[in-house]
Order: sequence, then structure tokens, then C-alpha cells
Amino acid sequence: MKVFFKTYGCQMNMRDTEIMKGYLLNAGIEVVDNMKDAETVILNTCAVREKSANKAYSLIGRLKKRGIRVGVTGCVAQIKAREFKRRGADFVLGTRALNSIVEAVKGEKDVDVSDHILEIDQSMLNGRDRARHAWVNIISGCDKFCTYCIVPYTRGREISRPIDEIVEEVRALAKTGHNQITFLGQNVDSYGKDLKDGTSLAELFRRVYKIEGIERFWFLTSYPSDLTDELIEVVASHERISRNFHLPPQSGSDRILKLMNRRYTRQEYLDLVARIRKAIPQATIGGDIIVGFPGETDEDFEQTLSLVKAVKFIRLNLAPYSPRPGTVASKFYKDDVPFDVKKRRMAKLSALQHKIMLELNEKLLGTQVEIIVEGRSGTQSYGRTLDNRMVFFEGTIEDGEKVKVKITRSTAGPLYGEISKRVIGIAK
Ligand code: SF4
Repeated sequence: MKVFFKTYGCQMNMRDTEIMKGYLLNAGIEVVDNMKDAETVILNTCAVREKSANKAYSLIGRLKKRGIRVGVTGCVAQIKAREFKRRGADFVLGTRALNSIVEAVKGEKDVDVSDHILEIDQSMLNGRDRARHAWVNIISGCDKFCTYCIVPYTRGREISRPIDEIVEEVRALAKTGHNQITFLGQNVDSYGKDLKDGTSLAELFRRVYKIEGIERFWFLTSYPSDLTDELIEVVASHERISRNFHLPPQSGSDRILKLMNRRYTRQEYLDLVARIRKAIPQATIGGDIIVGFPGETDEDFEQTLSLVKAVKFIRLNLAPYSPRPGTVASKFYKDDVPFDVKKRRMAKLSALQHKIMLELNEKLLGTQVEIIVEGRSGTQSYGRTLDNRMVFFEGTIEDGEKVKVKITRSTAGPLYGEISKRVIGIAK
């Protein structure tokens, strides 16, 4: 039986795909890299973008015509199981039923979107896509209930993994040659709160930092009012932890933040960024912004523009607001910002961000940066700096190797350079 996964959405979804692959591989079921070789296709869906659901619906139709079995998993599966079955899906597993993937693929399970707690068998974690950089889930779910977001309903309340289990997973990853780890959570800074024993992300970093062989630790996504000074201090004093904070503001207007049920003000957000930069001068900030949230006036939007100018994000994801069925915003707020206004505001923000990126990246021209290689494109290899800038250079270097690159060209996206030194024996 040959299975292919089509994954939509964020790193958490990609990690879920890896976990399901682990279960299948351990059951002797083949996972293929190409959809055309598959007998069963699994669509691991994302509810954040409407497009993901629509793409999944149309793909099911096309695959069923070719006689291919189709399974649907992920956030949209959790809330639209009946709709997927109606459109021909052979099985539907919600976000808490990943461990039923073998039964589902064998035709022994049809639908499971129940609310039980997901228990992952730790011996099934070997389905990883990358040999050197591993994603490690540390907390699932979210307790924040932002009014536009479906995640608390699809993924449930926050549940942190026991710290010892995570430390063991990182230790095992180091032994199998992984030298970069990204800790994942919808709200990674909430890690440990539900355990009520003082466990925190800062404490987790202190524990895993002692494990030999791990060159870099990353973490995402951060929630502004949960990011503690203790965590900032731990990042500042541990030089192998990424200096990049993915800290979505979503809006720069206090009025809109309130309507979104984000639990901080514009000033609190700016103060947090200032505290991070004071403790870690080279820190970079990434973010997400929703443009045209219900009720967003020109004045609110100006507040967002000025926040973006003040923060100077190293990366900024922009999305026009569109209502997600089942959320508070879709039920109670009118989507009253016309589409052409959203488009105009998006273009304005995007132009501003482009200019900021050009300025930020230009400062690195002629300098030497250290990167860990993560892949190749044509004759070039690429990797990221500790503060999360993508750097391309000519040459074929293996994943996981640490190299120094002199920056010769900067753009609003990646940086380009020439390799100046291979730091052999550290990353390998
Ligand atoms: S913090 Fe808000 S936007 Fe992020 S997952 Fe939780 S509810 Fe959704």
C-alpha cells in the first residue's frame, strides 16, 4: 500500500504529517514522495486559510475520479468531517486522532473527530522529513480565543508535553545526527503553564542546552503577553538559541486588538520589543498582521503602519481578513471593510515592509555571517543565520554543515554571498 501526504499550513501541521508517517512506516506501509505513485492520498488540512479547504475539496473530486483512496486529516477535518465524507473522502481524522492513521489507511476506521486527548507513542517519532533539522512539538492547542481564529476549537485547550519526554526526544535526535531543533506550539510561550509545576520554555531551554551536538535551537510561535523576561534572559545568555522572535502583533490599533481579543496593547507590544532589543541587540522580530479586520478604519490602519515602521520586522506575513466559520468574529462582526480597501492597505503595508527589509539587509553587505546549511537550489546552497536571515551562496555543501559567508548582494528577501570558511567539526 503506497501513501502520499499533501500538507497545508503551518509547521505544526507539517510535524503532524511526520508523526503520521512514523506510524505508517512502523506498520510497514510505504510512504511515497510523489502523488502519482500513491494508492492512498492523505490531505492534512489547515483552517487558517480558506483556500486550504477549497483546494482540498477540489482535489478529493479529482483523486476519486482516478480511483485513488483519499483521507483527510488536520484542522479542517476536525470541523468539517461530514462535508468531507459527502465529497467522497474515505476517512476523516481530526487533530486528536493522528494515532489512528494506520487503522484508517487499512480501511478499519472511517471517522474520528472525537475530543479525547491525543497520546503519541514515542517510539513512532521516526518519520522525519529532514535529517539535520527537527521539529519538536512541546505544547498543543491554544487557550487564547482570538476572535478570528478557529485553532482553539480545532486543536483544543493547551496541553504541554512533560519536560522529561521532550528532553529525551532531543537527546535521541542529537544521536541520529540532528543539529538544529525547532520547538513548536501554537503559543510556545505558554509551555508548562498547565503542568503547574514551574515548568517553562526558559527551563526547557536550560535543560536541552546541555545536550551535545545541537548547534541551534529555534522556537515559534510566541504570544506577546506570554513572552517572559526570564525567557528573554535565557535567550540572551545562551548563544545557540535563535535571536529571532516570531511575535505576531496582528494590528497596531488598540481598538482592533480589543476586538480581536488579543491580550496586550500597542504600547505593551512596543515595550516588549524594546526589552528584547535591550537584552539582545542583534535580535530580529517576525510577525503576522491581519489587514481589514471588521471595523478597521483608516486611522486604525495608520496605527498599524506606524507600528510596522517602529518595529522594523525582519519578516512580516500579511493576510486580508476573511471570516472563518465557527469563530466569534464570523458570528458577531460584520466583514465591513470592502475588498478593494483591504487590497489597497495590503499593498501599502507590503511596500513599507519591502523598504524596511531592503534597509535591514543592506546593512549586512560586506560582513561575514555564520549559517547552517539547510538545502540546495541549482548550483547554490542555502541556510539561515542565527537571527533568521536566509543566505544563498554558490557551491554544494551538505545539510547541517556550519559555514561562514561573506555577503555580496542584498535584496528585500534573501541575502547572497561567497563562502569564506567551512566550520568543520562543529555542526557535523
Ligand atoms: S493565539 Fe490566537 S491566533 Fe494564535 S492560535 Fe491562539 S487563538 Fe489562534
